[in-house]
Formats: sequence, structure tokens, C-alpha cells
Amino acid sequence: MKQLTDQFGRVHEYLRFSLIDKCNLNCFYCNPKKFQNSSLRKDEILSFDEIIRLIKIFVKDYGIKKIRFTGGEPLVRNNIIELFERLNDFKKEQPVQLALTSNGIRLREFLPDLQKNGLDRINISLDTLNKDKFKKITGYDYYDEVIKAIDFAADSGFNPVKVNTVMMKGVNDNELLDFVDFAKDRDINIRFIEYMPFGDNKWNKDDLFSYQDMKNIVESKFDIRYLEHNNNVAKDYEIVGHKGTVSFISSISEHFCSTCNRLRVSTDGKMKLCLFTNGEPTLEFKKSLRNPGFSDNDISAMIGRSVLNKDEKHPSVEDIMTYENNKMVQLGG
Ligand code: SAM
Repeated sequence: MKQLTDQFGRVHEYLRFSLIDKCNLNCFYCNPKKFQNSSLRKDEILSFDEIIRLIKIFVKDYGIKKIRFTGGEPLVRNNIIELFERLNDFKKEQPVQLALTSNGIRLREFLPDLQKNGLDRINISLDTLNKDKFKKITGYDYYDEVIKAIDFAADSGFNPVKVNTVMMKGVNDNELLDFVDFAKDRDINIRFIEYMPFGDNKWNKDDLFSYQDMKNIVESKFDIRYLEHNNNVAKDYEIVGHKGTVSFISSISEHFCSTCNRLRVSTDGKMKLCLFTNGEPTLEFKKSLRNPGFSDNDISAMIGRSVLNKDEKHPSVEDIMTYENNKMVQLGG
């Protein structure tokens, strides 16, 4: 089988699919413009047939091992269980790991069926352990539901449930140690993510709480031990005496571009080679998927060529801050 290797020798085995560009939360740093309705017309969004056709090409031709669905909020896409049912059939002929990143609000409703239909991994986002602050950050009063979703996912056997926490100075940096405590009796992995600049989020250097600073503070109270493994994004630590673990994602202070193995497809079928570009797609799948003149082999060849254009590393923070067409709610992280 071929591999998706770029000109710097990086092999791509991880595909992230945005299922919808709208969300049922309005986190001020991610969805400040209130993408509660999709900015796309229905016919601009890839259908399940199109998504599945693409996934089959990526997996069969290039050995993609893991697919993560994100958004917007993936659980607001209609009939998501149908998508998983169909992918679960495909998984029987070609093993591939299916993962989901969600804000947790509708998770308890969908998780049993998702799990029955092949969902392997779940990440749930939670930036605060304070109910009032949750409302300030997200615009909604769903704190209790998200906590219940985390516990429900752990009780359903997802181990670990990954909890994505974006750390921002002056917003939730005072809760760093509370989050480590939150992992004491739970099979969860708290992932402290450095705050990143995106279109519209008015990122400022002073808002950045760097991985090194976070780690120093965690170490001042807890005995943490580095966990050696192949993860090329997160720096993972055991917390002695805790069931849960803690990780740091240093996208800004110590980027990990040299080991990047990710590709992204947006809701409207544009492939992005890097999270931080100014909206210019390297490849638009929609036209070729909808043109009977394009075979699977044609599309597969286009993917292989496109990956060769991936840059060695992401642009500087100063450049990223000037980009207008790079909104997280449309990309899915
Ligand atoms: N709605 C889903 C959720 O809430 O997890 C999936 C989409 S959301 C865009 C994916 C992840 O990106 C969330 O964990 C969110 O906190 C994170 N994120 C959004 N904007 C970010 C930023 N500026 N810096 C770092 N992470 C960010």
C-alpha cells in the first residue's frame, strides 16, 4: 500500500473531518461570530455518500489509520448515527480507528449508538470547572451536562476520556491545579492546550499560557512523570496517586510540525494541509466528487500530489494573526 508522504518525509496517517461548521456553543475564543447557523448552503456541505467515498480512498489507498470527526459541533449534524453505521460496515473490511471531538452537550443522547457503531475514542472540551465561568466562556448554562457527559463516557468504557482544556491567561489559568485534581479519581486525560490565534479571536501574546509555565505550576504541587510513547502532539504525564493523566499541547511555544501526520477536510470538502493557513485550500474535493468524469483513482492521485505541497512548518504567530479566513469553528481544530 502507498503512504501519504510529503517532501519532508512525514507520513500522514491521521485525517480530521469537520462534519458541520455550526456549533451549539459560542465560546468567545472559537466562535465569537455565532456560527449557530451554518454559513454554508446544504448543497455546499459534503453528503455522507461523499464523505464515505473519500474516507474509503484515504484508507484503502494510503493506509490512513485514524479518522476524527469534529466541527463546529459534530453532534449537531443530522443523522450522525447513520454515518457511523455505514463506516462501521467499512471498518469490518478495513480496520480504522474512529474518534470524535465534542463539546459534550448532546453526548449522552448519542454515545450508546455511536459506541455500538464503531466509535473508538472520544475527546470532550471543557475549559472551566466553574459553572458561572462556563456560561461566560460559552454563552450557555450547560456546565452540569458536560460534567455528566465526561463521567458517562468514562462509565461507558472509553479509557481514557480525553478532556480538552484551552488554557488562557486571565480566563482560566487560576484553575490549572483544579483540573489536575479533577483527574484524581477519573479515568481521564486532561489535555492543557496552548491558546492559538485564529481569525476573529483577537488573540494576544499576553493571553498565552505556555506549556513550560503550566508544567512548572503543576509540578509545584504534583509529582508528575513523563510517559514515553509515540505521540507526536501531546507531552503526556502520569500524575502519581491519580487515576487520570495530564498532557500539554504546545502548539505555539514549541510547535511539533516536524512530526505532523495530520490532514484536514472541511465541511465543504476542502483539504487543508496545515491548521494555520489563510483559508486557501490545496485541494477542493466537491467538484471532483460530483463530476462523474472523476474516478476514485483520479481523486486518489490528486490527494497524493497535493500532500507534496505541505509546508515544512506553520507560519509565524504574527502572520497567523493577520489571517481572516481561518476560523476555528469552521476548521474543527
Ligand atoms: N465542538 C467541538 C468541541 O467543542 O470540542 C469540536 C470543535 S472545537 C473547534 C475543537 C477544539 O478546538 C476544542 O477543544 C476547542 O476548545 C479547541 N479550540 C478552539 N479554538 C481554539 C484556540 N484558539 N486555541 C486552542 N484551541 C482551540
